[in-house]
Amino acid sequence: MALIELAGVARHYQHGDIDVPALDGISLAIEAGEYVAIVGQSGSGKSTLMNVLGCLDNPTHGSFHIGGQDASQLGPDELAALRRERFGFIFQRYHLLPHLDARANAALPAVYAGLGNNARSKRAEALLTRLGLADRLHHRPNALSGGQQQRVSIARALMNGGQIILADEPTGALDSASGAEMLRLLGELNEKGHTIILVTHDPSVAAHARRVIELKDGRVLKDSGTPANHSLPADAPAELAGTEQAGGLRRLQVQWREAILTAWLALRGNRLRTALSMLGISIGIASVVSILALTDAARGSIEKDVRGFLSGRIPVWRGNPALPPGAVARSFRPSELDAIRALPGVKDVNVVREMQLTARHRARDAGVTAIGADAQSLSARKLKLAEGRYFNELDQASSAQVVVIDGKARKALFKAGQPALGQTLLLSPMGLTAEVPGQPSAAGAALPMTIIGVVDPDSGGGVSFGFSNGQVLLPLSTFARKLDPKLDTDSFNVMLDFSVPPAQVREQVIHRLKALHGVEDFDSWNADEEFQKIQNVTAAMAALFAGVGAIALLVGGVGVMNIMLVSVSERTREIGIRMAVGARQGDVRLQFLIEAVVLCCLGGLVGVALSWLGAQGINAVQAKLEVQVSWTALAVAFAVSSAVGLLFGTLPARRAAALSPVDALARE
Ligand code: ADP
Ligand code: MG
Repeated sequence: MALIELAGVARHYQHGDIDVPALDGISLAIEAGEYVAIVGQSGSGKSTLMNVLGCLDNPTHGSFHIGGQDASQLGPDELAALRRERFGFIFQRYHLLPHLDARANAALPAVYAGLGNNARSKRAEALLTRLGLADRLHHRPNALSGGQQQRVSIARALMNGGQIILADEPTGALDSASGAEMLRLLGELNEKGHTIILVTHDPSVAAHARRVIELKDGRVLKDSGTPANHSLPADAPAELAGTEQAGGLRRLQVQWREAILTAWLALRGNRLRTALSMLGISIGIASVVSILALTDAARGSIEKDVRGFLSGRIPVWRGNPALPPGAVARSFRPSELDAIRALPGVKDVNVVREMQLTARHRARDAGVTAIGADAQSLSARKLKLAEGRYFNELDQASSAQVVVIDGKARKALFKAGQPALGQTLLLSPMGLTAEVPGQPSAAGAALPMTIIGVVDPDSGGGVSFGFSNGQVLLPLSTFARKLDPKLDTDSFNVMLDFSVPPAQVREQVIHRLKALHGVEDFDSWNADEEFQKIQNVTAAMAALFAGVGAIALLVGGVGVMNIMLVSVSERTREIGIRMAVGARQGDVRLQFLIEAVVLCCLGGLVGVALSWLGAQGINAVQAKLEVQVSWTALAVAFAVSSAVGLLFGTLPARRAAALSPVDALARE
């Protein structure tokens, strides 16, 4: 079988209702090593035949074999492989990629054969040097003359071997000297064993060939036939030796490298457009990231307050709103507290000795909460002292009349800047003041206390209940002896050791106390439940804001899709060239997908940078909220950008990959 065999090949174009047969039943055979010129008037079907021969276009009828393989049965990727492995194209208008230099243009077919970067460059340099372009390797097409560009395209045709060279009017755009040089080179290649098929309308060009096929109206008018003395080339052309087919992994690596590089070049070549289309993604990512960082910081600060004050304990108190009217709630006895203390998951039971008192300093007074405190109270409440000292053992043992006041109480009782340490406070039961005459001096009397410390208002204690104007801490022993001597208590805290889930401990406490009291005349507060509520609220907030960011991303993504579609239609010819030299549909798809992903990731990066700057700004102007853009946020931004790129790049990429090579090449 001949190298190329056509039997009854037809190619019809549809012009509206009119059927134009560009090729109308062509049968011919071309042997390996032939030098064929296809001639005919303009519109006779030469280019169409050339495109069919080169597997750029599919015939509408007829069978068509290349090297014994039935090309009409092949899918797009197999046709791409045929183009890559067997054909080298030389076009009238050169069809070089304008943003690549001579070497990269010549090397392009080897990219799709999976040849590594170095091997590719070496081979391209060798070919260009042989064609007299050693000093033009790094010139772009627009810095080369027509003859030079056509020689670059010869180098490209030979890159993967170029067993069959298809040249469509190769001299058409050249001056006569360059044209002659071109024909000399083609003759030389034929002598080396390459099969040359040349399309021309010029008889003097056709005269260089050893066989002439003349077309008219899509039919063969004359065919001089394979010369009688034609001999098949002894070996494959020398150039064929240069191409080893790369393995899968290698090819994948080359494919990705090329796709990323091309994406980068394309984006860099259109800086303003790139920046503008990145903008939407940047804003989307910036809003998502900074909103997440903000809610995170807000939640962190609420958590710190709530956890610091409440977590790890379950407050229980006398009285329950569900009690029938008139029923009296009992206090808790020490023995009952011991029973609670024995429950699993309970570290300890802290009796809260607390009462509302009026504190007086000179002419100022304020309602405060007096709290009986022990050595651990400070750390349990996560408080820090701003001034003075805390109670020592001697204070506890001697029931010393000393107090530590919090910032709120200090503010209520002292003018700003007025020293509080060492001052005396008078504590008396609510509603009474020390000077009220006629009061019994025992329980109702004002108790003078010396201030020995002031709590730092920034440390914990942010959550306070009731209408209290602050808290004053006094030694537990002082509280029990001098303020409230009764043994039973109205409220206590169950301290958790977290060996049992808090909710379960709470149930057991309720169960046990109910058994002891006969009725549920008490109530308890589940800190972790409250905490969970707060968490749910902030989580809902975060979700809402993330939704807003997602909408921004959606809009940004649509912008990216739009720009990618524009990019595909602008670069249709480039796609055609890549396909002609052997790019698979997958290669083209990957190139545009990666371009979309790179675009989105760049946008995402800018977005993260913006939100980082925003966070620094927020942290600089206030101290309450520590906003941080975490590595997680960065990773999420990256993942989200990539996902947006993939999502919105798919349509343009598919569109690019679905182009037919011949249509793409014809597009200007
Ligand atoms: P030649 O290269 O010999 O000048 P072509 O092969 O380019 O001729 O064209 C052959 C015929 O097919 C012409 O009548 C032309 O109008 C028609 N033709 C070529 N390409 C297309 C196309 N893409 N769509 C419609 N008609 C086409
Ligand atoms: Mg033509």
